[in-house]
This record gives sequence, structure tokens and C-alpha cells, in this order.
Amino acid sequence: MSDPVVDLLHFIDRSPTPYHAVAESVDRLRAADFRAIGEGEVWDLAPGDRRYLVRHEGSLVAFQVGETSPAEGGFRIIGAHTDSPNLRVKPRPDVDGNGYRQLGVEPYGGALLHSWLDRDLSLAGRVTLRGASEPRSVLIDFARPILRIPNLAIHLQRELNKEGLKLNAQQHMAPIIGLEGSPDLRELLVSELRAQNQVEIDSGDVLAFDLMTYDVQPSVVSGVRGEFIHAPRIDNLASCHAGLNALIGASSASLSQHTRVVVLYDHEEVGSRSANGAASPLLAEVLERCVCGFKSGEPQGIERALSRSTLISADMAHAVHPNYSDLHEPEHRPVVGRGPVIKSNANQSYASDAQTAGLFAGLCDRLGIEPQHFVSRSDLGCGSTIGPITAARTGIRTVDVGNPMLSMHSCREMAGTADVEPMIAVLHSFLVGQARL
Ligand SMILES: [Zn+2]
Repeated sequence: MSDPVVDLLHFIDRSPTPYHAVAESVDRLRAADFRAIGEGEVWDLAPGDRRYLVRHEGSLVAFQVGETSPAEGGFRIIGAHTDSPNLRVKPRPDVDGNGYRQLGVEPYGGALLHSWLDRDLSLAGRVTLRGASEPRSVLIDFARPILRIPNLAIHLQRELNKEGLKLNAQQHMAPIIGLEGSPDLRELLVSELRAQNQVEIDSGDVLAFDLMTYDVQPSVVSGVRGEFIHAPRIDNLASCHAGLNALIGASSASLSQHTRVVVLYDHEEVGSRSANGAASPLLAEVLERCVCGFKSGEPQGIERALSRSTLISADMAHAVHPNYSDLHEPEHRPVVGRGPVIKSNANQSYASDAQTAGLFAGLCDRLGIEPQHFVSRSDLGCGSTIGPITAARTGIRTVDVGNPMLSMHSCREMAGTADVEPMIAVLHSFLVGQARL
């Protein structure tokens, strides 16, 4: 593998949307001899088989079958999410006024709205086109700055720095795409798709789209000694990248008893309730089909498999912010660059418990890595992850972990270069391990 930090920056820059993240993941899996398995096929699996499936373009499950039946060997699963907060284009987006052409957008997830101001923004996503027999979906990425949401000059809001910026999502977030009379978005989509030589179409062929904004500035290593990564979508493409690298690396190691699985979900940032989010049947169905596909008629196969399974939910963790350290629990202040964080919450916003946190700490211990711990202040709310949702959906014991970061949910986030490799190493050792957990 190339330098994992450089590789992560590429992965992020090639993944402006969940659909592109899945497509990039598929490319990497195919290069490692993973093959697509159709949801409409009857599955017939043998030890060592490497397979992946994509659901609704934004979610992906990849697995390598173990030496024994999953009913005997169980599953070791890494979960993460492909989506990040951003601004999504409304179905009828074109608005003219005051000499400008603007786009109507809707915030997706808990975006830090102000972080989208004065950025060089582009658009990417997918377009559904009229097809010969049925509609077809194509990915699109304008890959150049075409949008900007300008800040209001200080002269027109003199008290801003004292009073703070108040943004109304409807009124203040519409990006400028050109001057009045610019082509409609549908026309732009058509000319862009034509220019990318994908298709011969006209604007009547655009049936629908899922388009979102992103910052075109490339991801970089920063800090006086290269300590940091500045990039968009670190939450949670960094964990997708770590899980994929762990699985691809493990797939060339000798087989384990258990079946190795990575699941990357869309829609975590909006609560996971969707046809391919963590609250969907996606993972449970894949696991059940792995059991039946290995050996049909296995008595109580899925229940036996689940009882022997473990899931690591990998999602980024809050590092202590030096300018707001009082907002962090005094004894639980993860620092960027000091390694993986185990996340705990007594009220099950994180799924970790003594057994699963101990399991992860044990994996770290064997690699000489000391995990950090995160608990939110008792008087502050707590975020959540796919961990408790998949745990509730499948009954699989689960631990919530992640690398420390700052600027979570900003258009441009910040994490540590020294944390990239240890997380991959711990996840890899989880997947290749032979010992019963
Ligand atoms: Zn996240």
C-alpha cells in the first residue's frame, strides 16, 4: 500500500458524494479481486470468496468468507458511513433576482453552515436519465468551482464579531452560480454529461437528480511538522478508508474461521432511517444470505452466526478543542495524533460496553497502541453513530471507536496524520485475528 495518509487524501478527493465514495471503494475492491454479487442471484459461497454488493449507490457491503460456515465462525464486521453534511440542490433550483442566478439548496445533516461561505464550491452527485426501456442513473462531478455563497461585508453588519453570525438556511445559503439569464441547472447537467462523453442526451432526458455541493480545494497535509490533515468529509470517509484498507489487507492473509465484513452506510448524518441506512435490513440480509449461501439448511444458522459475531463501528471522534476545552469532559479529552478513541455513553448513544471496549483495547494493546477515551460532559448532549442502530437491528455486540478530529461537520475538517495508520492496523488485526473474541 502507498503511504496511507496520501492514499486517504486521494480517497477523500475522489469521493465528493456517497455515490462517488462507493464507486471509489468498488474500484479498490475489484483491484483486490473482490467480485460483485447480485441481490437478485441465489448466493453460493465457498471459503475465501471475496464479494461486494452496492445498495442504491450510496451503501456498500464487502466480505470475505471464512474457513468455516458463518454459523460456526461468526462474523467480524467493521461499519462506517459514506455521507457527510453538505448542501443539496432542490428539485426546482433555478432562481433569478438582483442580476444573479442562484441555486435553491437544502442543508443535509448537521452542517456548520457558516463553513460553506466564501468557498470555491462545485457540484457532484447522480442524475437519473430517460433510458430506452427504463431510467438509468449516471454519476456526475463538475470538478471545478462553479458556486459561491458570499459572506456579507462587515460594513453592512458592524456588530457581527461581537454578536455572532446568524444564518437562515432558506434565506442566506443559496449559492450564486452565475449572472441572471445563465443556463438552467438541467441544461448545465446535459452539457456536462455530454462533455464527459458519457451520454448523448438533451435536457428533456433529465428526470431527476441528487446533487450536492463540495469544496474543490484539494485535501492537504499541514502543520509545522506535517501533523495534520485538512480535508472535507473526514467524518466519515477516513473510517471508510480505514475499514476498506483493513479488509483488503486482510484478504491476502490466511483465512480466519470467521467471515470478514465491511459495511459502509449512507444516511448516517440524517438518522440512518432509509432503504440503505444503518436502520435498514441491509446488513442483516447480507449476513443471513452468507449463512445460507455457505450451507443451505444450516439449523438456526443466522442466530448461531450472530451470537459469534462482533462489530466495530468506526466513526470520527471529538478531539479536545484548545479554544473550548471547557466544553470537554476533563478526564476524557482525546488529542489529535495520539491514536484511536473508544467512545462511551451510559445512555447508549454509543454501543460500547465493558466487553466490547475491552476487546478493542485488547486489540490495541497487542499492537503497542494506547487507546484514548471519549465521554461527553454529563451536562452536554452526545452525538451518535451507526453503532447503536446496527446493534439494535442485529443484536451483535458492538464497540464505537474513531480517530480524533476537529471541525467536525465543517466544510473543511481537521484530523491527524499519525492516527491514520494505527486505526488501519487495529482494524486489520480484528479482521485477521484467529482467537475467539
Ligand atoms: Zn460521522
